[in-house]
Amino acid sequence: MRRLFVAGNWKMNTTLETGRALAGAIAEAISKEMTGVEVALCPPCPYLSVIGETVQGSGVHLGAQNVYFEKPGAFTGEVAVEMLIDVGCRYVILGHSERRHILGESDLNINKKMHAALEGGLKVIFCVGEQLSEREADKTEEVLDTQLDRGLKGLDVEALGNVVIAYEPVWAIGTGVTATPDQAEAAHAYLRNRLDDRYNTHVAESTRILYGGSVKPENAETLLTQPNVDGALVGGASLKVETFLPIIKAAQEVTKT
Ligand code: PEP
Repeated sequence: MRRLFVAGNWKMNTTLETGRALAGAIAEAISKEMTGVEVALCPPCPYLSVIGETVQGSGVHLGAQNVYFEKPGAFTGEVAVEMLIDVGCRYVILGHSERRHILGESDLNINKKMHAALEGGLKVIFCVGEQLSEREADKTEEVLDTQLDRGLKGLDVEALGNVVIAYEPVWAIGTGVTATPDQAEAAHAYLRNRLDDRYNTHVAESTRILYGGSVKPENAETLLTQPNVDGALVGGASLKVETFLPIIKAAQEVTKT
């Protein structure tokens, strides 16, 4: 059985103080009652250490939003896997659409980061997703296939045990427009089939595939009850306790039933 996973991607938001308060409230709620669902917070890099200390012992995991693939050295402005491990990160998000489409990150770069992260002991939340024009041109599966093939290139079955996939249609991220449960389920089922083809049935059945794209308390339950949706990567709604906790609770309800 796949344990549901809800991760909050804070992107370039919060201050040190608002981030600490948010993480503290989430950690308190999780340590009290919500053990069935795995939860991770991915704050901006400068706050990782403090947020890591804030959630320590609560069961909430710490994740980074990016990493560089080289070993520590002369790479101004970059952050190494070792540094993320040092401050307590368990996860790193790779392939997020904002990094692909705003920062120009290529599949090749993402794949290099993937190898470095996994070899260094991080787990990866690997994002894939089509743009609106690609969906309208009926190219969703082709795009997902290419991103999956290139991003996971050279990874063996064992490495896949540390990869969580996030299906994030670009047109749904930060727009308020959510994929319908049917659209999400179809994409997730497709990705799972591709994992079966690429690896084996065990990998396909055990890999968690999260949905991301304007997940909110109002739509969380219908998305999370889809058979192939194993959790959510949440942006905007992860920035407030009153919108993030209900999403985690919705995942908890799905886990219980
Ligand atoms: C994200 O940043 O991964 C995301 C899904 O954002 P939002 O929930 O705001 O659409």
